[in-house]
Amino acid sequence: MAAQETVDHKYVYDFAEGNKDLKDLLGGKGANLAEMTNLGLPVPPGFTITTEACKAYLGTGEEPAGLAGQIEAHLEALEREMGRRLGDPDDPLLVSVRSGAKFSMPGMMETVLNVGLNDRSVIGLSAQAGRNDRFAWDSYRRLIQMFGKTVCDVPGEEFEHALDEAKRAKGSTDDLDLDADDLRGLVDAYKKIFAKHTGREFPQAPREQLDLAIRAVFESWNAERAVVYRRQERIPADLGTAVNVVAMVFGNLGPDSGTGVAFTRDPASGAQGIYGDYLANAQGEDVVAGIRNTVPLQELERIDKTSYDELLSYMARLEEHYRDLCDIEFTIERGKLWMLQTRVGKRTAAAAFVIAGQLVDEGLIDLDEALHRVNGAQLAQLMFPRFRLDHEFEPVAKGVGASPGAASGKAVFSSDRAVELAAQGESVILVRRETNPDDLNGMIAANGILTSRGGKTSHAAVVARGMGKTCVSGADALDVNVPQRRFTVGEHTVGEGDVISVDGTTGKVYLGEVPVMPSEVVQYFEGNLEPARSEDPLVRAVHRIMTHADQRRRLAVRTNADTAEDAARARRFGAQGIGLCRTEHMFLGDRRELVERLILARTDDEREQALAALLPLQRADFVEIFRAMDGLPVTVRLIDPPLHEFLPPLEQLAVNVAVAQERGEDVAKEEALLAAVRRMHEENPMLGLRGVRLGLVIPGLFAMQVRAIVEAAVTVVRDGGSALPEIMVPLVGAVQELETVRAEAEKIIAEVVGESGVEVLIGTMIEVPRAALTAGQIAEAAEFFSFGTNDLTQMGWGFSRDDVEAAFFWRYLELGIFGISPFESIDAEGVGRLVRIAAEEGRAARPGLKLGVCGEHGGDPDSVHFFHSVGLDYVSCSPFRVPVARLEAGRAVLEAAGSDSR
Ligand code: ADP
Ligand code: MG
Ligand code: MG
Repeated sequence: MAAQETVDHKYVYDFAEGNKDLKDLLGGKGANLAEMTNLGLPVPPGFTITTEACKAYLGTGEEPAGLAGQIEAHLEALEREMGRRLGDPDDPLLVSVRSGAKFSMPGMMETVLNVGLNDRSVIGLSAQAGRNDRFAWDSYRRLIQMFGKTVCDVPGEEFEHALDEAKRAKGSTDDLDLDADDLRGLVDAYKKIFAKHTGREFPQAPREQLDLAIRAVFESWNAERAVVYRRQERIPADLGTAVNVVAMVFGNLGPDSGTGVAFTRDPASGAQGIYGDYLANAQGEDVVAGIRNTVPLQELERIDKTSYDELLSYMARLEEHYRDLCDIEFTIERGKLWMLQTRVGKRTAAAAFVIAGQLVDEGLIDLDEALHRVNGAQLAQLMFPRFRLDHEFEPVAKGVGASPGAASGKAVFSSDRAVELAAQGESVILVRRETNPDDLNGMIAANGILTSRGGKTSHAAVVARGMGKTCVSGADALDVNVPQRRFTVGEHTVGEGDVISVDGTTGKVYLGEVPVMPSEVVQYFEGNLEPARSEDPLVRAVHRIMTHADQRRRLAVRTNADTAEDAARARRFGAQGIGLCRTEHMFLGDRRELVERLILARTDDEREQALAALLPLQRADFVEIFRAMDGLPVTVRLIDPPLHEFLPPLEQLAVNVAVAQERGEDVAKEEALLAAVRRMHEENPMLGLRGVRLGLVIPGLFAMQVRAIVEAAVTVVRDGGSALPEIMVPLVGAVQELETVRAEAEKIIAEVVGESGVEVLIGTMIEVPRAALTAGQIAEAAEFFSFGTNDLTQMGWGFSRDDVEAAFFWRYLELGIFGISPFESIDAEGVGRLVRIAAEEGRAARPGLKLGVCGEHGGDPDSVHFFHSVGLDYVSCSPFRVPVARLEAGRAVLEAAGSDSR
């Protein structure tokens, strides 16, 4: 035997040979069956064929050398142990053939029960069961049905029709009313269906049944729906599945038999207790198939107290052993309990936190482990309000769930109207075809945003996510008519003031008001709930785990905030500063007119006047923000977007001018504006006159902003506060650009700071690939770098974000060129490499160079882990993502420690 094993690769493991850590090789089901076996739990004997055998088979289309012999040897051992031979006509051993990959892929690959039954052994089985013909024929018809469907692709409905037909003939809807004769007749009908679809008789040789079933499990790894599921769930395509061959035990032997599922805690809420379902006189798949009504697991106590108590003791045992929620499948055969499966159970986001907290209380895991077991995506889910959909609410349309949450309100079709109604205390939903920067005030005022165009990365989606505001985008069934203030969908028309509800998680749109539940977790972050005294186990668990994450993390977490309100909220959510304060919005609204004057200025004088008028307005904005962030650093980005974004759109302006001219009105000003817009028109505005380029071309613009920032800081400090301004220059590609801006800024700073003691840092965004590649030089002129990974991604890939997402990202995702959009999660290999180079070379040139990241990646869990590994000092993200980033920054430390020790 030993000699044989050195020649043959080992492809088959007895349950006694495996354990729970061998999931790669034995799959989840096999590894856990082995673990339970070794714990001494009653698992029917069996063996597991490895994922390696599957991979070898899929590679060549043939069973690898040695596999058949090893299966034979393990089967013989199983037969000896059971005292029966596979398919023996007089006293048959039957087995189940069960798939089981490393990751559970529910419903992807199926199981065949009762393998080994044929026209002769069905008689033997009946005798074995004490002349129970009904049971034997029921088992046989199940084999043909499952084998036909799973192994030979016979359409499952045909079997179901035949079963319904048999029940109808009996005048019943319950399969238990079918007697042995009925089931024997059903077997004949099934065999005909089988032969019709496969062109052959149902295989009678037990070993052939077994081999075909094993092969079918191997092949199911590449079944289309498995491939699609893996792609969605980002499960690697090359893992393969294991196959478990398990001696059958029978839950369909009569009322003292049955089958069920159990959870050691409630997978929905995490509450402790006994959760599960039981079905008497049934075989496995009946429980989930909904063939008959199951009873709550607690009822088993009445039906079979011995088995119930035994099950409870195993549940406690498994939970203690796995130190986690377990889900369990079991069968009772004539009063004897058998354990058929266990695994660490799936759970909701809320249950994940609650269970982790409870297990810490019970001393089963420590806080590090609790932190490891929850994640930022779950936390984000818990922060959104939800619809209480217990009534019948039918959606009228479905768009993209662009920014999660649940919002109801009166439909409005313009930003102004949104602001107006909101000011009167109304909840509104801003409905647009698509949004643009002018809708910002309306978006802030609205409870939710609904657009008929654009995807997950449209303006509406991106801005809404940044604000943590519910948004459904691209609901293309909606015909939005803004001038007439209404939209139509199907036969419905919704006018201004009609109430609608949008679900930003599912993308569904409802007419009328769906009741909403607020998020307790946000209440807690807002400081409205005292965690220690909270009745809510979720709040207590979140508090505890967040506190631990904060102790563990090395990355600081800042926020992107343009207003004092956002800054204040982010601070409550734990932000340790502002990593990105954009100044664009300070040029919008009633200030547009000043910006127009600035752009139209023909003389230095005119320009300086416009700038002088803007200065106090900007200063006042900064004063508020510094006050809100008293004592914490605030990174202010000088103006970044191309100037024409502040002017009316070309077409609209051209029409206005033409119409006014027609009427003989004085259009001198509009014409000048139109000329300016035409002059500033760019083919590729994202690659045009913007960022630092603007600062170098428009005299006085950056100087005015620098002055406003520093004067505001001095004001706050003089009033007894503290301000830590960091001035950030956008879009730098060459150190000379930064040096030029810096020289001018330093003069202003020296002049304004005076005796106040205010310290001002000057740094730059790293968002142009050239900046990353020359970071060593740029660091000479920068006290900090902030990676603008949105632009770095655009320019690194050569994508224009607004164009590409709708145009071809779907195809790239489908082809697997991206696992996920590089705008959602940083492309660590490519764009991330630029970050790594810049961080290393920047720090080499200037030790202690402060490094951060702003942009959406700062709040994305995987990206946070990456930024931790690169050694950044902080991430900055939208206020709502701050808790997510804190949590993930803590988890990143654990992950790094885990991979070191491996
Ligand atoms: P899934 O992965 O879909 O859960 P399983 O391999 O667990 O598929 O099989 C489904 C059900 O079939 C099990 O829950 C169990 O009830 C039943 N089953 C599987 N193997 C056996 C067996 N050896 N004896 C009795 N029932 C079994
Ligand atoms: Mg199962
Ligand atoms: Mg940028």
